[in-house]
Amino acid sequence: MPKPQPRISFEYFPPRTEEGRVKLLRDTTPALNALNPAFFSVTYGAGGTTRDSTLGVVSAMREDGIDVAPHLSFGGDDRNAIGALVDTYAQRGINRLVALRGDMPSGMGGASQLVYASELVAFIRERTGDHFQIEVAAYPEIHPEAKSYDSDIRYLKGKLDAGANGAITQYFFNVEAYFYFLDQCAAAGITKPVYAGIMPIINFANLARFSRNCGAEIPRWICQRVEGYDGDQDSIRKFGIEVVTQLCQTLLDSGAPGIHFYTMNQVEPTREIYRNLGL
Ligand code: FAD
Repeated sequence: MPKPQPRISFEYFPPRTEEGRVKLLRDTTPALNALNPAFFSVTYGAGGTTRDSTLGVVSAMREDGIDVAPHLSFGGDDRNAIGALVDTYAQRGINRLVALRGDMPSGMGGASQLVYASELVAFIRERTGDHFQIEVAAYPEIHPEAKSYDSDIRYLKGKLDAGANGAITQYFFNVEAYFYFLDQCAAAGITKPVYAGIMPIINFANLARFSRNCGAEIPRWICQRVEGYDGDQDSIRKFGIEVVTQLCQTLLDSGAPGIHFYTMNQVEPTREIYRNLGL
């Protein structure tokens, strides 16, 4: 039997400026859409801080005939507000969502409460039945706040059992962590696909800082290599493409169901990696 085609998707964040928004819709999206992804997704700011801009970008893309999934969390909103937003997405022809707990926006302290993603999935299913294809987040290197490896997998199963269709992972560079995680998911009775989230290396300093917070490990040999380039951005870029292409190739060769690229709103290096893979 021929191997099923891997599912490829691309993630954006909603730009902060009108200029950024125009560039994303007019230049970046046609260039990436030419690669024929299954869909795009657009993140949702912690606490609902990008409610309007996520809705705006997603609606504009949908009007251009693009399959796009807004990310969503309760943030600081109640069921009425989130229900209205979900209804608006459905009315605008959106049929995918990425459902998350999200994090506390910086500066809010303990003022508002986080709602687990499983509750959001159940809420969306209760309100809109099977309208949406729902994805949730998964963590091959385990969520930083998880009580244990096993409990994190149990809660992932809970999100999928609440009605999500599949999961997309946090980015990782340790391919063994992902395949071990898939084995553990299968042992826990998870049968839905867990797609690999992949972060192309664009700005290494930012990536290193972000990785410390989200619990994704950048292997020592990658850090050492980048350090050795002493700020030579061209060499770092080339090395980053080589490393991430190899990672993706291993994933695809070893049966990952698909790859979700965190594009950081840039055409390159995602396009170059994609082409290297011969997809
Ligand atoms: P949950 O699945 O709710 O889990 C959060 C933590 O609670 C975990 O440690 C879990 O083990 C634990 N847990 C879960 N359920 C229970 C329970 N019932 N009882 C006790 N403990 C429980 N952030 C954004 O702000 N905007 C985005 O658009 C965004 N997109 C993302 C997309 C992907 C693919 C990924 C991987 C992450 C994304 N994030 C985003 C980050 C995400 O919001 C954070 O990682 C957040 O801390 C956890 O969200 P979650 O949906 O995984 O939470």
